[in-house]
Amino acid sequence: MINIPKGTKDVLPTESGRWQYIESKLRRIARLYNAREIRTPVFEHTELFVRSIGDGTDVVSKEMYTFEDKGGRSVTLKPEGTAPVARSFVENSLDAMSLPLKMYYITPCFRYERPQAGRLREFHQFGLEVYGATSPYLDLDCISFAYNALVGLGMKNIMLHVNSIGCPTCRKNYTDALRSYFKPKLDEMCDTCKERFERNPLRLLDCKSPVCKSIASGAPKIADYLCDDCRAHHDKLTSLLDSCGIPYVRDDNIVRGLDYYTRTVFEFVTEELGAQGTVCGGGRYDNLVSEVGGKPTGCVGFAIGLERILMLMEKQGVDFGEERPDVFVMSQSPVFADECLKIVAGLRAAGISADTEMTGRSLKAQFKYADKIKASYGIVIGESEIASKQIKIKNLSDGTEEECAFGDIAARMKEKKNG
Ligand code: ATP
Ligand code: MG
Repeated sequence: MINIPKGTKDVLPTESGRWQYIESKLRRIARLYNAREIRTPVFEHTELFVRSIGDGTDVVSKEMYTFEDKGGRSVTLKPEGTAPVARSFVENSLDAMSLPLKMYYITPCFRYERPQAGRLREFHQFGLEVYGATSPYLDLDCISFAYNALVGLGMKNIMLHVNSIGCPTCRKNYTDALRSYFKPKLDEMCDTCKERFERNPLRLLDCKSPVCKSIASGAPKIADYLCDDCRAHHDKLTSLLDSCGIPYVRDDNIVRGLDYYTRTVFEFVTEELGAQGTVCGGGRYDNLVSEVGGKPTGCVGFAIGLERILMLMEKQGVDFGEERPDVFVMSQSPVFADECLKIVAGLRAAGISADTEMTGRSLKAQFKYADKIKASYGIVIGESEIASKQIKIKNLSDGTEEECAFGDIAARMKEKKNG
């Protein structure tokens, strides 16, 4: 037997309804917020991710699925959705469209990580990308989208954490302050943090090790280093969150793992998924488009980890409104199979989900099957039904039956479905 690769998962027929439920809800919310879908390839030139995400990040230095194709080019399976959208925006001159432009994606992502609950090597993200404006109203719109999506999906106990990490100018002063603070303490810190000290001191605030965490708790706060413009942007955003009634906490330790962020960074976090509690991460990245060769463009966005919200929804007992077939049409004996097929065709044409016995099983076995597939109603076709042109529609959950003329089956089923 050949096994599935480590860190990947099949979505089985018993589970796919839940994915479709989540995806269709998210698409509907995207429509409400005037966002349109963008689809980009599963792989890109490696350079795109190195340049945009940054080579000092965990994603680029440790987690990428990078390989040489047969033409000797280095390509990488996308570890996230934002950089490919930026590449496409520039390459297709999407700045010529009316801005701001709101786009969303649903995509698989690939990261070589140690698999555990809520952490896979192939996982899926829903993301929003808002291009072409630096106004904090768009930060708000984006956060409001994520908030309404998570609430709309029925999840509880998720908290929004917001921070600003400033622009390159104020961040420079801040990282200097961080280096002076951490330098004398570096010996006590983990090896990863020793590396981060040189390459990406902001990430020292993000370490999960208890010792590093307690050292980091005394570090200088970015809030004290923001320049006037970044401060005003952040204050406006938080006042908009207040006036829109979106609950949040300010959290100095939210720095996000990728280099391209500027100013706003945020996460939606739950306590209910252990260490993998971040269900959504996002922020502003005003320098990303110029980094991949375009004109400076204000951008803000987020990504929701779909496996994590699925886990949380299952844990919290959210009703996925699972779809079931409306009718299973059964034949008294295989000689009525053609008649059953005709009835099923009529039902399907009328928009009723219907199926029928095609393997010649006994009536008893057909009832068992109808129960297994959770059909709402059952219809049995036999000698007397054909002769009288009358059938019985049986409610398979409570056993009640009602008479119906052959010609009225579809109309009657439609009534039942809508009523
Ligand atoms: P974490 O700190 O958990 O590693 P991250 O900061 O690397 O998350 P992002 O790059 O912000 O994650 O990705 C956005 C979202 O995608 C995360 O909030 C999470 O829900 C999800 N996600 C990230 N990595 C994985 C993974 N390996 N498996 C499943 N979901 C993931
Ligand atoms: Mg990560």
